[in-house]
Amino acid sequence: PIVICGLSQEFTGRRVLQDIHLRVPAGTTLALLGPSGCGKSTLLKLLAGLLQPSSGEIRFGERLIASREVCILPEQRDIGMVFQDYALWPHMSVAQNVDFPLRMRRVARAERALRVATALERVGLAAFAGRKPSELSGGQQQRVALARAIVAEPRVLLFDEPLSNLDSELRESLCREMARLLRQLGITAVYVTHDRSEAHQLAHHIAHMAQGRIVDHHAV
Ligand code: ATP
Ligand code: MG
Repeated sequence: PIVICGLSQEFTGRRVLQDIHLRVPAGTTLALLGPSGCGKSTLLKLLAGLLQPSSGEIRFGERLIASREVCILPEQRDIGMVFQDYALWPHMSVAQNVDFPLRMRRVARAERALRVATALERVGLAAFAGRKPSELSGGQQQRVALARAIVAEPRVLLFDEPLSNLDSELRESLCREMARLLRQLGITAVYVTHDRSEAHQLAHHIAHMAQGRIVDHHAV
């Protein structure tokens, strides 16, 4: 599980997250909902290791990954991330983009090829391996980002409004696909969104945030 305990974040004296307590059971998805500026992305960045908390703790299972004293590097947290802008490397092919986390982890070449092919198949892009991101639609690019996030089989997946740049029809179909994939993989995930229906389709639990606090937390 992910366990967040007494987590707070300040930026130059301004408190942006206030005493957050949350538990995401292993294999489940938590959706974070709330108005713009309430601190959703900040919480996700703390989980990803892009920020160090002002106080409180984050644990993945038994492992302390972040506190005022401890901050495990993002690449050592065993996470995958998908953002609103797909953040693909434009000079690399689709396959090279998806391969990147495996190269970082020094996985052997033969196994990498197999895993990249499997990940691209999972997101329905097997035929696009040789293309450049610029030759893909927005929805296809987001699938590449998703394949890259899952290819190394991380313990935790983090999503920050991954569908908000897509038109509503595509959003629905990709949302269904992601829900299916998350259940197939049985992975622990935190999913930030503005969209209630997305949250209901994807998540096992929903936490509502307002002004840096969790104001409601319920099962779907
Ligand atoms: P949105 O739905 O618009 O993405 P959000 O809930 O993700 O909003 P955050 O990005 O977490 O909101 O921002 C929460 C607050 O923290 C905002 O008031 C923002 O201006 C502030 N903030 C975020 N990052 C920093 C930073 N690095 N330095 C100072 N203030 C920041
Ligand atoms: Mg945000």
